[in-house]
Amino acid sequence: MRRYFCPRCDNKVLYNVRRGKKRCKKCLYEWKQKIAGFSLTRKEWQKILFWFVLDHDIRTVVEQTKISKYSVEKTLKITRQIMARDVPGIFEGTVEVDETYLGGQKKNKIKNSY
Ligand SMILES: [Zn+2]
Repeated sequence: MRRYFCPRCDNKVLYNVRRGKKRCKKCLYEWKQKIAGFSLTRKEWQKILFWFVLDHDIRTVVEQTKISKYSVEKTLKITRQIMARDVPGIFEGTVEVDETYLGGQKKNKIKNSY
C-alpha cells in the first residue's frame, strides 16, 4: 500500500475526513490527495476507468461520471500512454498465431455434440 505524508510537516499519521480529504494529526492541515498530478480522488479514477474499459467515448464518460471533460481527457490520455507502454515484447513485429485448442481435456468432451 502507498504511504501518504502530510505536505506541510511530513507526518505519517493521517485521518481520512469528509469528501476524500486527508487531515494531518500533528498540524491539522487538510488536503485532497492528488493522483498523477491532478486532483481526482481514487473513486473518481475508478469511475472514469470503469466507463472507459466498457469502450465508451469521452462524451458518455463525462455524462456518466459528472466529472469535467478536461479531467476525463487527461485521465484517459495518461491511461492510454500507460497501456501502450505495457505491451509485452512478444507482440512486437509480426505476430503469428498457431491453431490452439483452448478448453478442457479432450477426453472430457461431450461426444456427439455436433
Ligand atoms: Zn502536518
